[in-house]
Amino acid sequence: MSKIIVQKFGGTSVGSEERIAAVAKIVKEASKNNPIVVVVSAMSGETNRLINLAKSFGDNPSKREFDALISTGEKVSAALLAMALHQIDVPAKSYSASQISMKTTDSYSKARILDVDGEKIQETLDAGIIPIITGFQGITESGDVTTLGRGGSDTTAVAIAAQMHAERCDIYTDVDGIYTTDPRVVPEAKKIDVITMEEMLEMAGQGAKVIQIRAVEFANKYKVPVRVLSSFESGNGTLISLEENNMENGLVSGIAFQKDQVKFTLHGVSDTPGMAYGILGPLSDANIEVDVIVQNVSINGKTDFTFTVSKEDESYALETIKSINTSLEYDDLLVDSNIAKVSLVGVGMRTHAGIASTAFKALSDSGINIQMISTSEIKITIVIDENATEEAVSSLHKAFELDK
Ligand code: ADP
Ligand code: ASP
Ligand code: MG
Repeated sequence: MSKIIVQKFGGTSVGSEERIAAVAKIVKEASKNNPIVVVVSAMSGETNRLINLAKSFGDNPSKREFDALISTGEKVSAALLAMALHQIDVPAKSYSASQISMKTTDSYSKARILDVDGEKIQETLDAGIIPIITGFQGITESGDVTTLGRGGSDTTAVAIAAQMHAERCDIYTDVDGIYTTDPRVVPEAKKIDVITMEEMLEMAGQGAKVIQIRAVEFANKYKVPVRVLSSFESGNGTLISLEENNMENGLVSGIAFQKDQVKFTLHGVSDTPGMAYGILGPLSDANIEVDVIVQNVSINGKTDFTFTVSKEDESYALETIKSINTSLEYDDLLVDSNIAKVSLVGVGMRTHAGIASTAFKALSDSGINIQMISTSEIKITIVIDENATEEAVSSLHKAFELDK
């Protein structure tokens, strides 16, 4: 018997009645060859609408109720898609997170998937019915609804694919694959046919929102092949490959960028053992992810300590730092929310030198000032002024001939 394929449809793919009908046809077609499990996002714009609605009753709504609210969009699209399938004579049933026991941690809005009831899904398939599962959400041990962070339906899909030992997880979206950078920002961006898991982890981790980072982490951990493709047009899309890529790689495979970042600088902290931990420990305890971290050389026993967090964590991070006990002394705390991160990613960086200097020259030629730099084996991240993001991405894209 052929193996299961999980198909995930994003917001624009189910953005209207017509789109849902089109998706139903894709599902019907695929179900002729493989057992299909479907995961859906909310109709496009719906999650944003719900988030705005939540603001009607204060800036800090209860985290539990917030997740209960913003998870509802996926229920709508799941039920509608089931109806659309019924209309073309395909048996289907929608399932919410609680109906398939999609268990997560209890950190609301950032919950992590722990476990899912594969038996329920299998029983449905065995009865000849296509399960349509709500993406983006789960339940805690005590049954409260949680959500997985923006773009979290990708992660639901890959987690289910892992649990069901699926042949593959197909992520249907509004672009026909993964590009060298966001094609909406750089029209010259080129579609990539095969990208390594390692590169995709860095691209997604650095903001390429085409697939959520947690989804790639799951795929990597449980060895699930993932394909990203369009629900609007046919084509093979991009395969995120589990194989080590032995082909000759270019220097840089792709460029990711992330706005909505905030830079915190603790100016004049005393340079003593435990200082970095004294700052980053409480942030980590508060479940705030810190990214680029730079500590300067100290002068007279004092130094500057700078790091970035995502904008949604800004006020929480500020609160956390201010509440750190008096053992942390500093002269000044500067917060800059006008920044962006631009990252070059490529396994070719391992074996080639001179990538950083090419990047710095391109930015210098465009008159863009570099505020922070951080590197890893296959990535260079540069922090710049937010207003220069598009220009920086375009000039780097050109400098590394990704348009060729
Ligand atoms: P969905 O609603 O289907 O989950 P998303 O909006 O989350 O879709 O992700 C698709 C979008 O990701 C594309 O429309 C594109 O603008 C953006 N994107 C960012 N980086 C890339 C990239 N490197 N390749 C393709 N798309 C990208
Ligand atoms: N609907 C959710 C969001 O907009 C989840 C998703 O689309 O993956 O973030
Ligand atoms: Mg998405």
